[in-house]
Amino acid sequence: MIWLTDEDRRLLTEMESEISKELMQENWERFMEHTPIHSGSPQEEAAVQFLKTKLEEYGLEPEVLRFEAYITDPKYARLEVLEPQSLEVQCTPYRQVGTTGPEGIEGEVIYVSPEDIGTAECRGKIVLAEQRVAGDWMGLRDGLLLKLQGMGVKALIVIEQDDYMPTVCHQRADFSVSGNPTSDNIHLVQTIPAIVHISNKDGETLRQLAKQGGMKVHITSVVETGWKSLPLLVAEIKGAIDPDRFLLVNGHVDTPPFSPGVVDNASGDVAMLELARILNGHRDKLRRSVRFAFWPGHEIGRYAGSTWYNDSYWHELRYNCVGFYNIDSPGAEGASVFRGAPIGEVQEAVADAIKAVTGTEVERFRWPTRAGDSSFWGIGLPHASATSSRPPELYDPHVNYSGGGWWWHTPYATMDHGDVDVLATDVRVELNYIFRMANCPVLPMNFAPYADHMIGILEGLQEKADKVKAYFNIHPVIERAKEFKGLAEDLEGAVRAAREERASDEVLEELNRCLMKVGRCVNPVAHSNAGDTEQLSMETFGRSPFPRIHEITELADMTLHQSPEFKFLRTKLIRQRNAVENGFYRASELIKETLAKVK
Ligand SMILES: [Zn+2]
Repeated sequence: MIWLTDEDRRLLTEMESEISKELMQENWERFMEHTPIHSGSPQEEAAVQFLKTKLEEYGLEPEVLRFEAYITDPKYARLEVLEPQSLEVQCTPYRQVGTTGPEGIEGEVIYVSPEDIGTAECRGKIVLAEQRVAGDWMGLRDGLLLKLQGMGVKALIVIEQDDYMPTVCHQRADFSVSGNPTSDNIHLVQTIPAIVHISNKDGETLRQLAKQGGMKVHITSVVETGWKSLPLLVAEIKGAIDPDRFLLVNGHVDTPPFSPGVVDNASGDVAMLELARILNGHRDKLRRSVRFAFWPGHEIGRYAGSTWYNDSYWHELRYNCVGFYNIDSPGAEGASVFRGAPIGEVQEAVADAIKAVTGTEVERFRWPTRAGDSSFWGIGLPHASATSSRPPELYDPHVNYSGGGWWWHTPYATMDHGDVDVLATDVRVELNYIFRMANCPVLPMNFAPYADHMIGILEGLQEKADKVKAYFNIHPVIERAKEFKGLAEDLEGAVRAAREERASDEVLEELNRCLMKVGRCVNPVAHSNAGDTEQLSMETFGRSPFPRIHEITELADMTLHQSPEFKFLRTKLIRQRNAVENGFYRASELIKETLAKVK
């Protein structure tokens, strides 16, 4: 339930009136002077110092934390066709760990279609491939690249899938590992010496040449990989009533390589400055604290900043953080709609914030992915964001954000693609969400609609695997989820009663403690397949709900139930099913205990 007092509603209206387009425009232009910002560069340090100075000017006490991150900084790339004709093609280096060095490499080029990539012979060859591959929304990346490396590929020339704007190259990356690699997963990071991206249009030319046969190229791709010290700026506004609990408001400070990043994420940093300025002016009336974090290493460190923060402040986040709110890509030129809200216990709070500002209902709730520094699923924080987007007719379907602008991750992400009017609307929505999380006497979390989505997802998974249900099924999980939903409805009822009956502070505290703890039980099993202090594996980029048990569909695809492979996978799935079931069980027990106490 969204419980705002009349006094709080008045305060929120007052804060909304303080949003200043003039200040944001000025800060935006000044921030842009430091871009492009490759993480670990002097530009990043200058941008952080600019933000720090502004926060101090607004009365906060920011701090710059420093840590070592393993980052891969692409410097430049060059592609020369030598045979059957001489030709230079513009290209951009991938964010990965291999490098050709300045001398480059030479070799024969073969074209491999999306259907054959990963199976067609490619040893010692430079492969011309499509960014688009069958079955992966993010295209050629991670495990598939590692496979090609194992097959002995010499280098890759990747044709951009973007036919909406066929003359750009979007900067893309290997995200096989989240944050700093460990001794357990460094082997998952591929080291192909060159992966260069060419535009969709140039791709047509090279595809023709390669298909004729006898094509030779010289590729230079210089990428620097190693440990660098990065700055991570944080600032907290202490709440007046419950200062230990805080909302983590965050966004990345680095831009994609070679890109001015006008809305990815210069505008997000400007939005955070504006929110900090306004909230700090009313800090004596905030119930909980609001902590701002500006992540480095988002683009070339596989979310190095947020994963390091998760590792280094794990205990505090686990027990005191009420939620993660990410600000990335607000204020995009032409952005006029909100495409939906992320599924979760705070989905109502996001939808309510959007409705309060735009007057429109959120039509679609989507499963949140791991993108955008969502590094806190192991802890179990509710993850939310609410950013405007361009309408379908202006939306480039091949980009992974910037409001859907075709300039995403290109050098064309310049100031003309930012719009301060759009940014002001986005900041209003953000302020509405943050204020609800900070000030509602009982946290604006409702697990009932979340449970409803999860039951639908689980039943869908079971349906896909019905063939093998005699050998393995997730019926126990579905039953637990249904029990959890009923209890979540009761908990929501208890919150409503607490409001109507003007319950004591002790009752409100019980409810808040319960709402936070329930998320810690359910979110890790719904979103992660790793331990609570680990990062989830990246095969689906967090896109598959219940990653611990989603391989049930692979089990159902197997021909013979008596095969060893079937039995190995079934054993794994039984263990993982226990973990998921236990998540729901623990959450239900917590709710029962709380209901007994508050009655
Ligand atoms: Zn971004």
